[in-house]
Amino acid sequence: MANSKFEYVKQFEQPDQLLPNTWIVVRIDGRGFTKFSAKYSWEKPNDKRALDLMNAAARAVVTDLPDITIAYGVSDEFSFVLHKTCTLFERRASKLVSTIVSTFTGHYIYLWSTYFPDMLLSPPLPSFDGRAVCYPSLQNLRDYMSWRQVDCHVNNLYNTTFWTLIQLGGMDTTEAEKTLNGTFSADKNEILFSKFSINYNNEPEIFKKGSVVFRDYELVEPGTHNVAVEVDNIAEPVQQSKSQLENDKKKRAKARIVVEHLDIIKDDFWDRRPWLLS
Ligand code: ATP
Ligand code: ATP
Ligand code: MG
Ligand code: MG
Ligand code: MG
Ligand code: MG
Ligand code: MG
Repeated sequence: MANSKFEYVKQFEQPDQLLPNTWIVVRIDGRGFTKFSAKYSWEKPNDKRALDLMNAAARAVVTDLPDITIAYGVSDEFSFVLHKTCTLFERRASKLVSTIVSTFTGHYIYLWSTYFPDMLLSPPLPSFDGRAVCYPSLQNLRDYMSWRQVDCHVNNLYNTTFWTLIQLGGMDTTEAEKTLNGTFSADKNEILFSKFSINYNNEPEIFKKGSVVFRDYELVEPGTHNVAVEVDNIAEPVQQSKSQLENDKKKRAKARIVVEHLDIIKDDFWDRRPWLLS
């Protein structure tokens, strides 16, 4: 194989190494899931089985790739966070994205029948796109996570009200859209409560907050251990020692991976789990 006259073609490959010492987020999103969800008659606006399947596939991805520290999912998307010291595939974007996308898709299809036992999966099969973005500071990363969770909240409040107007209020989609045009959050809460006796606060957490997948260690009591965040900005060495990295890797590989529906915008979630971003 080596030194054939054809080998020069290798030089056409473009380098795509991601910036060192930055948090890498790989976000995947289902392709054409509006159509896909209609094909399998998913409940609107939130089919619980479909969300559980997304979460199970994401959990499998986090299990297969110990470099992933945390993942956040909503609707047909999942964001996977790779630690800023991650060196997997020399941080090559196309390798990271394609591996995460195909690992996720593989598990999604493999697990389909567990969550939809009465629905045979047939072509066109589910597929996902993916992209990688680097975030240089912890604040940027936290803001990214907050952005996705705010999006989850805003969309879910809109969709819940929209589908309630249709399913319980007897409106068609045009009427429901018109009713919600220009409304604020408070108006939607009010429509749900006064017209349908639905308290939005009592909606399932998985719908309101999305899903967080992470390795679970012992929780830190609030206020006792806040060094992780500070260290990041001042004195942390750029390179951890090899044995330290190996130890961390082993520890991460052993920890239990959980799926929860928690607020990741406020500090509390991160303060109590300093290992996630340290
Ligand atoms: P694209 O290929 O551009 O991503 P898309 O149709 O997948 O197109 P999105 O913006 O990703 O568009 O929206 C996801 C779609 O999938 C929405 O229509 C949403 O209602 C539907 N969907 C995703 N998850 C669920 C679920 N658990 N229950 C019901 N519908 C869902
Ligand atoms: P990497 O993750 O770096 O790609 P790899 O083990 O997949 O590692 P490749 O260079 O991609 O390494 O080589 C593919 C490997 O799979 C080779 O060991 C090859 O012999 C084996 N393989 C691939 N297809 C077949 C096949 N059809 N029959 C037998 N072995 C195969
Ligand atoms: Mg999209
Ligand atoms: Mg989509
Ligand atoms: Mg989407
Ligand atoms: Mg090969
Ligand atoms: Mg290979």
